[in-house]
Amino acid sequence: MRLILLGPPGAGKGTQADVLAAHYGVPHVSTGDLFRYNLRQGTPVGLEAKGYLDRGVLVADDVTGRMVAERIDREDAAPGFILDGYPRNLAQGEDLEEMLRVRRLHLDRAVAVDVPEDVVLSRITGRRLCPSCGATYHILYSPPAQEGRCDRCGAELLQRPDDRAETVTVRLGVYRDETAPLLAFYRERNLLETVSGLGSVDEVTARIREVLHD
Ligand code: ADP
Ligand code: ADP
Ligand code: ZN
Repeated sequence: MRLILLGPPGAGKGTQADVLAAHYGVPHVSTGDLFRYNLRQGTPVGLEAKGYLDRGVLVADDVTGRMVAERIDREDAAPGFILDGYPRNLAQGEDLEEMLRVRRLHLDRAVAVDVPEDVVLSRITGRRLCPSCGATYHILYSPPAQEGRCDRCGAELLQRPDDRAETVTVRLGVYRDETAPLLAFYRERNLLETVSGLGSVDEVTARIREVLHD
């Protein structure tokens, strides 16, 4: 199973990717998570990416592409992957095609999670992240049992710096201008499926599995 999840920031891609990855037994590959991991570890990729993440704009395509290639070459990705947050512009769409072509792999489907902007905004502003294990919460829609603490590991939950209002506006603009053209890109290749991202997490998962005929 080689799947791409498309959709605006806050649509629920990461949440769905986690569920689908567990279901199909393939890794959830999130470029945002990979950048944040590199940032915390202080790697060269992390240092390079920091300024872009802070501003809410895209990291350079070559840096991003190399990071993705390395990740999908790891053994756990041999049976497939759920890509979340990549590609994010047309050039990356082409880079991914080439990446798969040289590995004699193909994409099964690109699923766009469709959520109106007002809902996306409320999902983003309430999002909280566990810095230790990566679990995602929402202060209203999926709160932890104990306020501010991760259910899985007990760490203190944080708001992503780029989930604050100023940066969110930039990120939504980047989505409209740079990422949304990928919908036509995958439609032309007969790979695109669109599902509504409204409703509960389970409802959205069921819609995705339905379009995947699973
Ligand atoms: P993305 O990866 O697209 O940026 P996330 O998966 O991180 O989105 O979800 C954004 C926020 O919305 C998180 O706080 C998450 O807990 C919450 N969320 C995800 N799916 C739903 C849903 N179906 N209903 C309500 N909240 C959701
Ligand atoms: P969201 O879940 O809200 O869609 P992500 O966690 O996917 O956000 O991305 C956070 C930031 O990481 C982006 O604003 C961007 O700076 C960087 N980033 C993530 N994926 C990519 C990518 N494919 N290309 C370039 N930059 C990326
Ligand atoms: Zn945790």
